[in-house]
Amino acid sequence: QIYIHRPNSDGCNLLVESHYRPFIDAVCQYKDQQWSGSPIVNGESIESGEKVTVTSPQNREHEVGQIYYADEETTRKAIDIAHGAFPNWSRTAVEMRAQALEDYANLLEEHKHELIAICTLEAGKSLQDGIDEVREAVDFCRYYAIEARKLFSYDGPLLGPTGEMNELFVQGKGVFACISPWNFPLAIFTGQIAAALATGNTVIAKPAEQTSLLAYRAVQLMHEAGIPKDVLQFLPGKGAVVGGVLSSDDRISGVCFTGSTVTAKNINRSLAERDGAIATLIAETGGQNAMIIDSTALPEQVMTDVVHSAFTSAGQRCSALRVLYVQEDVAERMLELLEGMMQELHVGDPIERRTDVGPVIDDKAKKKLDDHIAEITETGTLISQAPMSDDAATGSFVRPTAVMIDSIHDLKEEHFGPILHVVKYKASELNQVINDINSTGYGLTLGIHSRNESKAAYIADMVNVGNVYINRNQIGAVVGVQPFGGQGLSGTGPKAGGPHYLHRFITEKARSNNV
Ligand code: GLU
Repeated sequence: QIYIHRPNSDGCNLLVESHYRPFIDAVCQYKDQQWSGSPIVNGESIESGEKVTVTSPQNREHEVGQIYYADEETTRKAIDIAHGAFPNWSRTAVEMRAQALEDYANLLEEHKHELIAICTLEAGKSLQDGIDEVREAVDFCRYYAIEARKLFSYDGPLLGPTGEMNELFVQGKGVFACISPWNFPLAIFTGQIAAALATGNTVIAKPAEQTSLLAYRAVQLMHEAGIPKDVLQFLPGKGAVVGGVLSSDDRISGVCFTGSTVTAKNINRSLAERDGAIATLIAETGGQNAMIIDSTALPEQVMTDVVHSAFTSAGQRCSALRVLYVQEDVAERMLELLEGMMQELHVGDPIERRTDVGPVIDDKAKKKLDDHIAEITETGTLISQAPMSDDAATGSFVRPTAVMIDSIHDLKEEHFGPILHVVKYKASELNQVINDINSTGYGLTLGIHSRNESKAAYIADMVNVGNVYINRNQIGAVVGVQPFGGQGLSGTGPKAGGPHYLHRFITEKARSNNV
């Protein structure tokens, strides 16, 4: 058994028994609890309309709770309220907005055991992933609170002719629709909302259908922390219904979206067709992320980082490694190590400490991934598949798989799961490898393993991606440390958790006064 998780995280080091025991006991007390949720409009829970039963990806017999979905009428009502609340909220002092986010961050820490339990049960994320979710959500709130204070602090008049006073002010844009994914049901959900609120926008939060219960609990905590009820609306529901109304309503000033490239383009189209103002779209989308390893790399370190990058969170990260380029001269040794490490992976119940890979999000995702494995192992050559434990029989589990293929172009789309594609290359073909990666049009993460510093720097410069990781794994960007986001088909930028993120949420006003 290998632990592919980051060993040390806030609140619990899963490798130290004395940390782990009380922590797991506290999380497990929620194991049989059921949660319920609904749209929240102006602070009121709307318990009517379509009601959906939420089951766990780890065991479809296990009911996690029930959620009411918003319909078009509720969505319009939420926009009315958020639109009406904007003038007041945008004039609320930045200090109060920042303080409310910091209070929410404290509540997240206070309720971490429950939140991790929901994350594990509803999203099938591993215990370590659940811990990291809470950590990242807290980081986003504190980081954006600090950045908003800086951005909104007035730094005096601009230069100008005598007798004229020139000043520049920033303010929120209006109502932001925050549409978030199921793979980071607390962290990205929180990050989008925190950025929009800190900058004085009002928010309509639309979580992914699969992870509405965790999002509902988070919104309750945001309101408890002092985010006014008319400022933050919550609309769980179908993308076509809620997202459709949001992206076609003139009163939406911006959309912050994380999800597929296709959906981002649809939102963009729909926003552009409205009669109203030109809206802002901040989109973080998919990737076809590669890692290039050359003959100077250290095999043990490389393969630990490869397994970590490809299989953590069952490969369901935008940042995850999909295509590994191995220099031919060292391929045999590298692949032998990969095979050995994959045999040590524990695929099973996400709440167990020994689990490295939990389920994927649902049966639809499982089917797509299983179909791809069947097809690609037919055309390519199977390298290794991890064993499945007995408890992987009950849910949406996909067997971690590594397969040798000829080219990145054999992949027509991103495969969002625990599947690693390996391509061998000759040292003389490095520029071709770089061209091939760039020609996918995606540009999110890139891993490089090389002890040749100038070669690593060359590759990092030539490949068009948002995040390059050298001689380490290529996932788990830390807020304020590795600002995260891509280019091209991978997103619009700016980078989440980076110093320029908040700028896209604001508008500026220059005032010239002939005093
Ligand atoms: N920020 C995450 C990471 O670095 C990925 C975010 C995503 O999957 O959207 O692993």
